[in-house]
Amino acid sequence: MNSTDLNYDILIVGAGPVGCVLAERCATQLGYKVLLIDKRAHVAGNCYDRFHESGVMIHQYGPHYFRTNSKSLLDYLSQFTEWIPGNYFVTSFFRNKYFPFPINLLTLAQFFGKESLTPDEAKALLEEKRENIDFPKNSEEFVLSRVGKEMYEAFYLGYTLKQWDMHPRDLSPSVCGRIPIRFNTDCRYVDHEYQLTPKEGFTALFAKMTNHPNITIQLETDFSEIIQKPPIVIYTGPIDEYFDYGFGKLAWRSLQFDFQVKDSEYVQDNVQINYSNDFDYTRTVEIKHVTKQVHPKTVISYEYPKAEGDPYYPIPTDANHALYLRYKELADQETETKNVYFCGRLAEYKYFNTDEVIENALRTFELLKSKHGR
Ligand SMILES: Cc1cc2nc3c(=O)[nH]c(=O)nc-3n(C[C@H](O)[C@H](O)[C@H](O)COP(=O)(O)OP(=O)(O)OC[C@H]3O[C@@H](n4cnc5c(N)ncnc54)[C@H](O)[C@@H]3O)c2cc1C
Repeated sequence: MNSTDLNYDILIVGAGPVGCVLAERCATQLGYKVLLIDKRAHVAGNCYDRFHESGVMIHQYGPHYFRTNSKSLLDYLSQFTEWIPGNYFVTSFFRNKYFPFPINLLTLAQFFGKESLTPDEAKALLEEKRENIDFPKNSEEFVLSRVGKEMYEAFYLGYTLKQWDMHPRDLSPSVCGRIPIRFNTDCRYVDHEYQLTPKEGFTALFAKMTNHPNITIQLETDFSEIIQKPPIVIYTGPIDEYFDYGFGKLAWRSLQFDFQVKDSEYVQDNVQINYSNDFDYTRTVEIKHVTKQVHPKTVISYEYPKAEGDPYYPIPTDANHALYLRYKELADQETETKNVYFCGRLAEYKYFNTDEVIENALRTFELLKSKHGR
């Protein structure tokens, strides 16, 4: 495809959330003619959902629990979808029992064999259990300093080892520190004000967002196939790939999903069960609890972390971050001199939730508009 023949104003590489949002903004706000490409056969990036052969809707690349604290972001997305309530509840399996996760008063009471606990009693209990580490240097020290050894070993250690193939003592405090510990009985997975899921799914949302006469979508098309580029490019692919891995490859953790059909309406009590100490998989997901689809069968996704495969999670070590910064320096020059903008989780080598990455895309759009608006 010779993209300049068709007089595109902008090429957007990657039709994930970032690519779709920027395509929509450029088409509707700037009147640009947009070429949006993706090497995969679908839009929506890792938020992609589809109907499995059984007829049950699945989240192809892991469960996506949409949440945000931003009303304006929600208003923006509501142009393209209706919503249903999130219903995000996670339990952690330990010694044949299921514990609400993240840890809250109910988890603490169940774990330590109490009838119930008030917030003050729970704080006093954890004061006894926790280790005295004032400035935790890594994830192990962080969790030990919050909940002590028993809960660390029950819920965090094995899960982290499987997920990252690294010991929590080799990961920064923020990796396990992201998970809240609550002194109330709120069992929801996350704290955000708006916890909603698109009524018809994420793929339908992003398809509607990009359904505009100014937007041409070309799927199964890699960036390397585009020979002549329009004057502006937004790149949401891996930053190291863009620079031909000149400084070496950035490390990612990948996942393998094993989808299994079950012959009953539901098999789990909630969408996600974490397995810290049992099995090779980290979690099982029954997304029907979120999609609320009415169907006589269900599908369980078993998640196996692995080193090779699609890039899912940047590995949060200092060395990887330093390598990313070297690429970022080149990317900044590319933006300055060639109008190539880098945005998104692959291009910024950072784990972002969908709401965060869309807010980044909207900020990138403001920057682009200030430089190239007409
Ligand atoms: C397992 C997992 C679970 C998640 N769960 C949640 C969750 O519960 N809640 C939440 O808010 N967020 C969740 N996320 C995060 C969410 O997936 C991301 O925030 C979001 O998908 C990032 O959007 P993006 O556009 O930056 O990247 P992506 O969605 O990855 O899209 C990038 C696109 O670029 C394409 N591409 C890459 N290179 C090229 C190339 N050279 N040529 C053409 N196309 C290319 C890719 O095929 C891809 O479709 C999860 C992520 C993972 C991995």
